[in-house]
Amino acid sequence: MTRSERAVDVLIVGAGPAGLAAGAELAAAGAGRIEILEREQEAGGIPRHCHHGGFGGRLTRGGVNGPAYARQSVAAAVSAGAGLRTGVTVTGWAGPRTVETTGPGGLERITAGAVVLATGARERPRSARLVPGSRPPGVHTTGELQQAVHLYGQRIGTRAVVIGDEPVAHAAVDTLRAAGVHVVAVVTDRPAAPLRFRQRTPLLTGATVTGLTGRTRLSGVSLRHDDGRTTILRCDTVVFTGDFVPDHELARRGGITLDPGTRGPAYDAAYRTSRPGVFAVGNLLHAVERAGVAADEGRAVAVSVLHRLSGTDEPSGGGRRPLVVDAPLRWVAPNLTGPGGVRPLKDRFVLRTARRLSRPLLAVSQDGRELHRQRLLLPAVPGRPFHLAADWLERVDPHGSPVRITAL
Ligand SMILES: Cc1cc2nc3c(=O)[nH]c(=O)nc-3n(C[C@H](O)[C@H](O)[C@H](O)COP(=O)(O)OP(=O)(O)OC[C@H]3O[C@@H](n4cnc5c(N)ncnc54)[C@H](O)[C@@H]3O)c2cc1C
Repeated sequence: MTRSERAVDVLIVGAGPAGLAAGAELAAAGAGRIEILEREQEAGGIPRHCHHGGFGGRLTRGGVNGPAYARQSVAAAVSAGAGLRTGVTVTGWAGPRTVETTGPGGLERITAGAVVLATGARERPRSARLVPGSRPPGVHTTGELQQAVHLYGQRIGTRAVVIGDEPVAHAAVDTLRAAGVHVVAVVTDRPAAPLRFRQRTPLLTGATVTGLTGRTRLSGVSLRHDDGRTTILRCDTVVFTGDFVPDHELARRGGITLDPGTRGPAYDAAYRTSRPGVFAVGNLLHAVERAGVAADEGRAVAVSVLHRLSGTDEPSGGGRRPLVVDAPLRWVAPNLTGPGGVRPLKDRFVLRTARRLSRPLLAVSQDGRELHRQRLLLPAVPGRPFHLAADWLERVDPHGSPVRITAL
């Protein structure tokens, strides 16, 4: 089949909060022909199916529910002059800044002066979590559950178990209740959960899912407790929550370097990936932050894209040093230094830990030289972001080894 070929100034892949904000900002700045491509039939990203409040930021002045936030984000991009096409999936690359797409109009090849990847993140499904047992209907992630309930009005079940204790587990519990489903328990393998659940939801800590049972429909979740006991929770629905991974497939197919910690593209404070002219923003970079953070990054990338288009971009090679973390820290973002003079959003790096740390002392060093020390005022908790100031960046040797971050 033949592909039609076109060129635009900026191509943005993904119309969630990050991609839409980037499109709005670039169009308002007069960056030329901006096109945002979205594989779903409706633009807006994850907020489209989050019917709870709590979506805020500059756009909403206080907070609205997800669908309202999505509508406002779409309206801001379109009214600024960005082109938005839905039902169009970017499937691969045909050159450094040329992508291949498939959509209602057929196959296309689009070349851009700059490409912004804003493909978001998704929860790891049951198969990727290596949960053994049968494969009956009734098994969801939070995103799938919300789409089934809020976008398609589907019936879910009657008794549900929610797995996970990241904040998104609250959203799963709320969605199940809105659908009239009884929540049997929230289960976490951690000894103590960082979350408190509203409305008397039983919370089982220190319990690991060892299998799912049921043939034509889920009938139970088998658990092994830390003390060696085993139990089966009878239910017809299970929701695997949290444990997000960046939707990095397109970046990976393009040979763009991924950070081993975040598993999103490695990037610097200007949102530049390993490929010149290809930028990345939003939860693709650090699964997951709030929608307002993704949108702030979308707005911030515009400056870097404008530099690229006008040829005033600082070369991205040599001077960028990787930032690496020692366990139990899991990752840091941005995870490359540079370019000179550009600071990360809000002048700080975001980090995650694999286990709870009580007010850790974070040390930044390079080649045995300490660049910075900072005591956190609060505990660092798995699944939640915490931050490291960026005011040591000018002390990095651009020719030195990777910069190391350790929790002491
Ligand atoms: C259940 C849940 C509840 C949440 N609650 C809140 C909350 O209360 N408040 C808050 O601030 N944040 C909340 N968040 C987080 C918020 O939704 C995210 O931070 C935000 O959506 C991230 O924006 P994004 O643009 O990076 O990614 P996304 O919103 O995921 O958008 C990415 C878009 O890219 C598209 N895409 C991917 N690949 C391709 C491709 N190859 N071609 C074309 N299109 C593609 C996807 O279809 C998607 O629309 C919640 C998240 C979840 C999962």
